[in-house]
Amino acid sequence: MKKIGVFTSGGDAPGMNAAVRAVVRTCIYNNIVPFGIFEGYKGLIEGDIKELSSRDVSNIIQRGGTILRSARCKEFHEKEGRQKAFDNIQKFNLDGIVAIGGDGTFTGAKIFNEEHNIPFIGIPGTIDNDLFGTDYCIGYDTALNTVIEAVDKIRDTASSHNRLFMVEVMGRDAGFIALRSGIGVGAEAILVPETPTLIEKLLEKLRNDRTQHKQSMIVIVAEGDETGGALKIAELVKNLCPEFDTKVTILGHIQRGGSPSALDRVLASRLGNAAVNALLEGKTNIMVGVLHRDVSYTPFEKAIKHHQKLNKDLLNLAEVLSYN
Ligand code: ATP
Repeated sequence: MKKIGVFTSGGDAPGMNAAVRAVVRTCIYNNIVPFGIFEGYKGLIEGDIKELSSRDVSNIIQRGGTILRSARCKEFHEKEGRQKAFDNIQKFNLDGIVAIGGDGTFTGAKIFNEEHNIPFIGIPGTIDNDLFGTDYCIGYDTALNTVIEAVDKIRDTASSHNRLFMVEVMGRDAGFIALRSGIGVGAEAILVPETPTLIEKLLEKLRNDRTQHKQSMIVIVAEGDETGGALKIAELVKNLCPEFDTKVTILGHIQRGGSPSALDRVLASRLGNAAVNALLEGKTNIMVGVLHRDVSYTPFEKAIKHHQKLNKDLLNLAEVLSYN
């Protein structure tokens, strides 16, 4: 390995910069020349590729977003697009690629690898934390902290006015952010796509909370909950329980930004380093992750196919702790 390319792809996540820095510095430490590929697969197709020095990644460990920028690239879905990407890999003499992103990014890498034999290592970077083969994805912990900070503030105002708040958090297909942040803020209820939402049961719980003199009620709703988002659920609640003063907050994209937490910075640093080491050991087509505190290696195929499951103990915990 003499030259390694690194890119960030799909949805951005806080801590991606820390991972890029770790890839670059580990390369330099091992006498490998690191190259930044800008805007994910788009940059690979367009040849937007530049050598990175150690100074290029100074002062970025604490920055959210990604200095390499990110993109969703339709052209990479086509064989011709992937051929252009391969031509550029050859043009820049890249011996291996580190891809930081989510399951879409790894699906693209897997397909690319079947056509062109270039070693690819993935680093899980997605606030959704839904990838199989790692306990945590880069960005998840920071997103959780952002949600908790915001909902604590909502709790203050909700308590002052005896209000019920429906707070929508990110998670189109997965309830990881909703579940952990819900436990962290002491939510009265948590609605996730993985379990059926029974409106009658929810209303019974909220009415019961009210009789127990709760001054405020917070329901955390994952955006992908099958009943609909927070607006839809609030509408149902307003119709069926007009006695509640119901408000809605959709946290949206603030969950993607901000300075990464200590946990995300350390995780990203470990995984960036592990990805380069994996390439040096001749590994390919795998995602590096952390399982039970140790670095783990999961084939792309598995990481994509088997989605991580919500922890049942945490679901039970949320129910027990919000019980009157
Ligand atoms: P997040 O989980 O944050 O959304 P992601 O990596 O899953 O991140 P996607 O937009 O799904 O984000 O995928 C990123 C890019 O990977 C796509 O824009 C596309 O270029 C490439 N990609 C995804 N799926 C495929 C596929 N089936 N074939 C080829 N390329 C793909």
